[in-house]
Amino acid sequence: NEFVKVEFSKGALRTKTVEDILTPLKDCFMLPSTAVLDFNTMSEIMQSGYTRVPVYEEERSNIVEILYVKDLALVDPEDRTPMTTITKFYNHPLHFHLFSVFTGNSHLAIVQKVNNEGEGDPFYEVLGLVTLEDVIEEIIKSEILDE
Ligand code: ADP
Repeated sequence: NEFVKVEFSKGALRTKTVEDILTPLKDCFMLPSTAVLDFNTMSEIMQSGYTRVPVYEEERSNIVEILYVKDLALVDPEDRTPMTTITKFYNHPLHFHLFSVFTGNSHLAIVQKVNNEGEGDPFYEVLGLVTLEDVIEEIIKSEILDE
């Protein structure tokens, strides 16, 4: 594994946090784990244009799995395969740390922060997802601003 060092010490990037660049949960294209991979669902996935689709249980903030569009290569919509059959078979790791965006080959992380506002116990709040593309875009943008 090659270690990727990113220089965050000068310019506009210094003040950027992952919260500034992530895709908010409400805008994420995701599917419930109860989905069935029939013609409609598979068309919806293709039309979304994304290569990775988070899969949630009960509520959108509870992401449990990730479906890669390439996992669908051998799926016949006529079979109406349950989503979980495919996600359990491929079982791609789910990452919750920005560092995983720079390592491995997934380049996608779910971003959560500790919410300790309010009376109750602190809990993890899912903010959205971030990919290598978001990070690179931010670096390129700030390089241009710096010139
Ligand atoms: P893709 O390979 O699917 O095109 P990229 O990693 O190139 O994804 O990211 C492109 C943009 O799309 C980024 O801003 C990223 O946060 C966002 N993105 C990636 N997957 C999803 C998804 N399932 N729903 C919403 N936005 C997504």
